[in-house]
Amino acid sequence: MQKILVTNDDGIAAPGLRALVGALEGVATVYVVAPDRERSAAAQSLTLLEPVFYAQAAEREWSVEGTPADAVILALNKLLPERPDLVLSGINNGGNLGENVYYSGTVAAAMEGCINGIPACAISLTGKRKDPDFSGAAKFARALAELALKEPLPKGVMLIANVPGKWNGAVRLTRQSPKITRNVLKDGTDPRGRTFVWLSEQKHIDESEPDTDYAAVFAGCVSLTPLELDRTHAEFLNHLSHWAAHLTK
Ligand code: MN
Repeated sequence: MQKILVTNDDGIAAPGLRALVGALEGVATVYVVAPDRERSAAAQSLTLLEPVFYAQAAEREWSVEGTPADAVILALNKLLPERPDLVLSGINNGGNLGENVYYSGTVAAAMEGCINGIPACAISLTGKRKDPDFSGAAKFARALAELALKEPLPKGVMLIANVPGKWNGAVRLTRQSPKITRNVLKDGTDPRGRTFVWLSEQKHIDESEPDTDYAAVFAGCVSLTPLELDRTHAEFLNHLSHWAAHLTK
């Protein structure tokens, strides 16, 4: 049987991860290695200045006191008896859309799989809720996993799926949208008089370009986007040759 590593950034006990594990029954042998608590917006950060504690939580499951990327690194280099055939990250409670994917621990965990040459998908349920229903996203994740186990992804490419809460059953292949949310800073002062802000994001543009991830989920469709590891901009690389002459010592 093929092997899937499941991880996330919402923590090992998160209902979204449990829904994903449940959906994969019979598809593959599932290993879970995930942060012990929520590490949303941890991006691809690593824990380098302190030890990374880990503990077995159940059969084929380990919790890691670290970031999502730490968890994948431990899984691949220490905890799993064999290399997995697929890394699945999620199901995140909340979308990972547009340029906000750069902050996402969910996406970063899949990227870590991709960096290690393993096919990887990040799956998110859009519209963060207190009591989310992961059933549609879980069903989609199972179908996606079956395909990803059969058909290899190109080297250096991972998939990011966003499933809307009210999924109409359709799937759109999309590109990453520009950011349509903006930072919100809520001021406060702690009992010792120290000032702080709470950071959050708020949508400030209602429209998004029709072929993008946001447009798909706003229309009730699943958005599926291939993301590339190599962020080099080929066209500008050529243009930069003009600069090189000025920059050369
Ligand atoms: Mn999260």
